Amino acid sequence: MKCHYINCDGGAVIFREYEGRALCKRHFIRAIEQKVKSVIRKNNLIESGDSIAIALSGGKDSSVVLYLLKKFFGNRSDIKIFAMAVDEGIHPYRKETLEKAKEFCKKISVPLHIFSYEREYNVEIDKLMNSGKNKGQSACSFCGVFRRDVLNRKARELGANKLAIGHNLDDEVQGILMNYLKGDLLRLARMGAKTPIKYSDNFIVRIKPLREIPEREIALYALLRKLNFSLAECPYGHDSLRFEVRDFINNMENKHPTTKLSILRMYDKLQPFILKSLENDSKVNSCKICNEPTSGEICRKCQLLEFINGQEQ
Ligand code: SF4
Repeated sequence: MKCHYINCDGGAVIFREYEGRALCKRHFIRAIEQKVKSVIRKNNLIESGDSIAIALSGGKDSSVVLYLLKKFFGNRSDIKIFAMAVDEGIHPYRKETLEKAKEFCKKISVPLHIFSYEREYNVEIDKLMNSGKNKGQSACSFCGVFRRDVLNRKARELGANKLAIGHNLDDEVQGILMNYLKGDLLRLARMGAKTPIKYSDNFIVRIKPLREIPEREIALYALLRKLNFSLAECPYGHDSLRFEVRDFINNMENKHPTTKLSILRMYDKLQPFILKSLENDSKVNSCKICNEPTSGEICRKCQLLEFINGQEQ
């Protein structure tokens, strides 16, 4: 199959079902980079004076975010970029991905800061799950909360005003449907390319430069650019609701190739109305234990730590 562009003799590396065209390597890479630039521009994700922490897992998505932000902004003296990685205590998965993260940051000369749940909370996910102290709750229900906390807190302590995460189109659409399924309107309202409101001084704004790019295209881009990323998958991931939602959306996309983009576009149209409807409900407090932002009195992380540690008494 030939590239869609007239006067291009390149063989296609991908056929985009959702727009009915094939692209060669050169035009595919250009399309991805233009799309990311356009997401950054139209959502005002990055501005002069920003200090951006990039959450790096060592997998393809976060490696692509880091690579592109470095490529686009690495020469700007008014924008600072660094990477942060988290060791959740999941073996051997995390050891492998952290090695990749370290190698990649060294190769492209970006500082990397590594934090661990063990040091932060005296918790390791493997040990927690093996001890039975999770009481039937999934690893992700602890891990996701701890990760949000450590990334937000450490990004702030390191002077960042933005936290870039590698959410791609698939992640974003899964998140939208999951929040519907859980009936979580507040979380639903806070999705989008950039946290819509700065809820508290302690909260670092999250940005998602890849949110309009399908996961398989991120993987192809990372391969074509020969980025050094890990293919390892977390052993606990398959237990989560996210994976059921992912399979459902992928089945729909196979039958109706614009499904993911349609869900995203519809969400973007609805978001201002959802935000408006929550104007009086979206108050953010400081957690009475750790002082981090929370919608209640005690944040979810402190509740989970009490849940785990309470069982030791
Ligand atoms: Fe943590 Fe779940 Fe992600 Fe594994 S899949 S790293 S347990 S949030």
